Amino acid sequence: MLRSISSLDDLSGKRVILRCDFNVPLDSGEIVDDGRIRAALPTIRHLIDSGARVIACSHLGRPDGEVKPEYSLAPVAQRLEELLGQPVIFASDTIGSQAKAASKVLEDGGVALLENLRFSPLETSKDSAERAEFAKQLSELGDVLVSDGFGVVHRKQASVYELAELLPSYAGLLVEREVEVLQSLTANPQRPYAVVLGGSKVSDKLAVIENLLPRVDKLLVGGGMVFTLLAAKGHDVASSLLEADQIDTVKGFFAQAESLGVEIVLPSDIVVASGFSKDAEHEVVAADQIASSKFGSAGIGLDIGPESAKVFASVIAASKTVFWNGPMGVFEFENFSHGTRAVAQALTAMDGLSVVGGGDSASAVRALGFSEEAFGHISTGGGASLEYLEGKALPGLEVLDD
Ligand code: ADP
Ligand code: MG
Repeated sequence: MLRSISSLDDLSGKRVILRCDFNVPLDSGEIVDDGRIRAALPTIRHLIDSGARVIACSHLGRPDGEVKPEYSLAPVAQRLEELLGQPVIFASDTIGSQAKAASKVLEDGGVALLENLRFSPLETSKDSAERAEFAKQLSELGDVLVSDGFGVVHRKQASVYELAELLPSYAGLLVEREVEVLQSLTANPQRPYAVVLGGSKVSDKLAVIENLLPRVDKLLVGGGMVFTLLAAKGHDVASSLLEADQIDTVKGFFAQAESLGVEIVLPSDIVVASGFSKDAEHEVVAADQIASSKFGSAGIGLDIGPESAKVFASVIAASKTVFWNGPMGVFEFENFSHGTRAVAQALTAMDGLSVVGGGDSASAVRALGFSEEAFGHISTGGGASLEYLEGKALPGLEVLDD
């Protein structure tokens, strides 16, 4: 059982470091989707109401341990202020003089936000001593840690893991809710149980297939990762996203699926484009004919085709439990958003538990105009929820467990 913040009621005078996942999509400094900020509000409000002095912190993007202004959390501080309807002090560093000053001037019920944790290379260092050093400095800003950044609980990072060992630490309301839903998916999922995978983090996601196969009835694959699977079937995928060094591993997955009696459902048709842009010329071809599109070897698969979308939707409709992570295509471009829309639509219409996981998948659902209420649950974490479903121990959760 995770230690819960529900057990903390009077926090007056206490400085609470709140690890959030404010890794929101930005477009030239503008927040494109504030879903992750809104997901943190119940915990923040709970802490404010308990009289805590809240020092929120997060990462944003991958600034690779350097101060890069385009990854500043300043726009998040501003949005948080609007959503909370109270001032948020923004510290322009994490363990420096600004952060220390903010932690000192906060009053009961006040909120501050630190700058991007990943501006320091120590946050994500492979060296545990370096992470411990950063965590030590962070710990001086607070008395208690509340861990609510579900999207990072699968990472052994300073603010997620080492800091939770140094301070009395508790799971926030968001982490609690996420774990509750994922637990119901793993413990005893209603069958048929289908997992739909897509998106662009190809190697990360290929690796999960092996661990998911023994748990599911069907695995549907689209998005950027599908081309490595199609290549493993012997098809030429032209200029589509491909991890050639994973092909042998993928062949192993096919063999494993067959021996387990699990069906891996691949698209039968693909929308192939002349290039990676919103108005690129495009045509639908059979999934084994990608290199024979009119763009030849320059063609890039940017979405699953309409026939595949129909098949995916009908498999989803016949399932009682579906977990979906990763868009089926480049949904940010209207022309290549249809496969993602069809899958999202099918999830909203199915009879049973539908769970969407992943930052971009959650954004896609909102950007395409679906109501969040139409899904069983929208998880803020893609990698974290996948690893949970694979049965892996997540360091950021283990450290909060008695
Ligand atoms: P999530 O955040 O939901 O886990 P990912 O980060 O893995 O998902 O992937 C999301 C991205 O995948 C989107 O930005 C989308 O444009 C991209 N994507 C989907 N299909 C393709 C494709 N065929 N080629 C390139 N990129 C793709
Ligand atoms: Mg993503």
